Amino acid sequence: MASDCVFCKIAAGEIPAEIVAESDQTVAFRDINPKAPVHVLVIPREHQPDIASLAAASPAVAAEVLEQTRVVARQESYEDYNIVFNTGAEAGQTVFHAHAHVLAGVDVSKLFLA
Ligand code: 5GP
Ligand code: ZN
Repeated sequence: MASDCVFCKIAAGEIPAEIVAESDQTVAFRDINPKAPVHVLVIPREHQPDIASLAAASPAVAAEVLEQTRVVARQESYEDYNIVFNTGAEAGQTVFHAHAHVLAGVDVSKLFLA
């Protein structure tokens, strides 16, 4: 755990969050500033600064993060959803603990990929 990391503190239960799912290696909780009807963050319990670092250091944990995005979406009654991994400050990353944004109820791809 990184002592100054807000998401490590959420995973440790030291900062409150609305947790919606947990697995051995991950925790999922609602984003405090939701941008879609469903906006959940899936994080590894392991501290890594971004998804690329996580994939390199612990690929099985990165896979579990991906699997949990589906679990969360289905739990929220969505089959279709977007996953966003902001990676690096210039790409908008503000919390440097790897996290998947799970977004459902709006087609995010239309905003910036279409
Ligand atoms: P990033 O910009 O790094 O990809 O996304 C960080 C996300 O974490 C933002 O969408 C922000 O709203 C969310 N966030 C930041 N601090 C907290 C917090 O303390 N609790 C929760 N639930 N979400 C947070
Ligand atoms: Zn952390």
